[in-house]
Amino acid sequence: MSHRTIHLFRKGLWLHDNPTLLGALACSAALFPVYVLDRTFLEGAMGLGPLRWRFILQSLEDLDARLRALGSRLYVLRGSTAAVLNDLVTRWGVTQISYDTEVEPYYACMEREIQALAQERGLQTYTHVSHTLYDVKRIVKANGGSPPLTYKKFLQVLSVLGEPEEPVRDVSAEDFLRCSPPAEPLHEQTYRVPSPADLGLELDSEVLWPGGETHALQRLHKHFQSQGWVANFSKARTVPNSLLPSTTGLSPYLSLGCLSVRTFYHRLRSVCAQSKNHSLPPVSLQGQVLWREFFYTVASATPNFTKMQGNPICLQIDWYHDPEALEKWRTAQTGFPWIDAIMTQLRQEGWIHHLARHAVACFLTRGDLWISWEEGMKVFEELLLDADYSVNAGNWMWLSASAFFHKYTRIFCPVRFGRRTDPQGQYVRKYLPVLKNFPSQYIYEPWKAPEDVQLSVRTIPVPWCATQRPVMRKPYDFLKWNSNMSPSNGDADHKSRPWTPETLQLSGEVM
Ligand code: FAD
Repeated sequence: MSHRTIHLFRKGLWLHDNPTLLGALACSAALFPVYVLDRTFLEGAMGLGPLRWRFILQSLEDLDARLRALGSRLYVLRGSTAAVLNDLVTRWGVTQISYDTEVEPYYACMEREIQALAQERGLQTYTHVSHTLYDVKRIVKANGGSPPLTYKKFLQVLSVLGEPEEPVRDVSAEDFLRCSPPAEPLHEQTYRVPSPADLGLELDSEVLWPGGETHALQRLHKHFQSQGWVANFSKARTVPNSLLPSTTGLSPYLSLGCLSVRTFYHRLRSVCAQSKNHSLPPVSLQGQVLWREFFYTVASATPNFTKMQGNPICLQIDWYHDPEALEKWRTAQTGFPWIDAIMTQLRQEGWIHHLARHAVACFLTRGDLWISWEEGMKVFEELLLDADYSVNAGNWMWLSASAFFHKYTRIFCPVRFGRRTDPQGQYVRKYLPVLKNFPSQYIYEPWKAPEDVQLSVRTIPVPWCATQRPVMRKPYDFLKWNSNMSPSNGDADHKSRPWTPETLQLSGEVM
């Protein structure tokens, strides 16, 4: 049958490895590529902050340009997805809706609405998994109906399933040839991608991660020019405070749907196949992509994955309720330069290195402030370009020792961790200009500097003040940890040493 199809773009804003779009084109006489800017959904369910908004708008511009190059275009509409689709079905005489299947509960809810609409209006639906390497339901099934909760077990299950499917071919102009929808009057104005100003977004920060498939593929291509770097990548050897990303920086593109993870994975596979001594999971680049798949799998089969309560894999911990300390952490005013520099980079740029995420997440939760991981996760959700339902919550649970990992000793010292890889404090100087000329000796603990040195900083009118007492609980009340562990839930190391500023150990199972 030749359908009149709406292809609904949600996360997969790309034309390479897009089996849903390719399949829909193959059975359609007209295909309308649609994106619905559902502001309530995007800012509510997805917690979109201004930087991610900008990234999405740029990605839509890019998608529109790429579609136009193939003889089609993107139709951007505003409103609630179900209502907009209902209207378009009538306007365009639609018989089919195609969309990628996603795992997040809010997307699953949207999918139920689309299915209900399809049933009511007598439409076909066409859908495919595109955002993960496998259909994660297969992984859960192969593990006996529950998600594997360790990376090792996860890899064992994958070895039974075999390699993920190869990417499909790129969508081409020929595919669109017989599917181009007729032009409507007022076409350009009605369906154009809005600018940030149209949406009332005020953004003057530099764009370091421009959104869109074009930039994603360029970044991917650039990395694969250094095959040795790709083959020997070891996460633990990358530097959290380098001034340019020491890892791929592909996460915003993978998370917001500008790059197919299958494309990335199979490119990595072919590099490793050509290299005798390549690194291995969990620390290799393939290992990183598999961490992503791991969290997607667990999230897909765990109720209340982004919450502590009602989440069966999460330890129930009596975290402090301390809005003031939380605000200081969020706004980069803890008084620890290393922590505040990371939070500043996050606020300004929307991306921080994985180990920098470790540092601030540990600081907020089990390391220093004893504030719930859920609060940190929400702040990351708003500020990170790559904020991702499954990966964000999964890592926060890990870092707070609430799930997956329960060793209390692996605490990151907010002074020594940063100093180890950047003794001169270049990173701190960049993100906290108030300390630009501070002596290296004291840059990670300015409260130890002689008074005259501290006073030189205090004259600069900025909220951060080197002499303020850092926001930190006393060296940790270790008993609290023990008394608040849910005895049935964990295998925490109760005999471990309490926190001391000297305790700096990187996790053995490095993500
Ligand atoms: P690379 O090291 O180049 O890795 C390549 C890709 O592998 C990444 O783009 C990402 O898709 C995946 N990956 C890497 N590390 C992990 C990991 N630990 N878990 C799952 N996938 C991984 N990553 C997100 O994409 N979204 C989030 O919301 C997110 N929140 C995090 C919260 C905390 C508290 C922590 C500690 C980590 C979080 N991460 C998150 C994981 C990780 O820090 C980022 O994926 C990584 O730093 C992104 O940089 P990159 O693309 O250069 O990574």
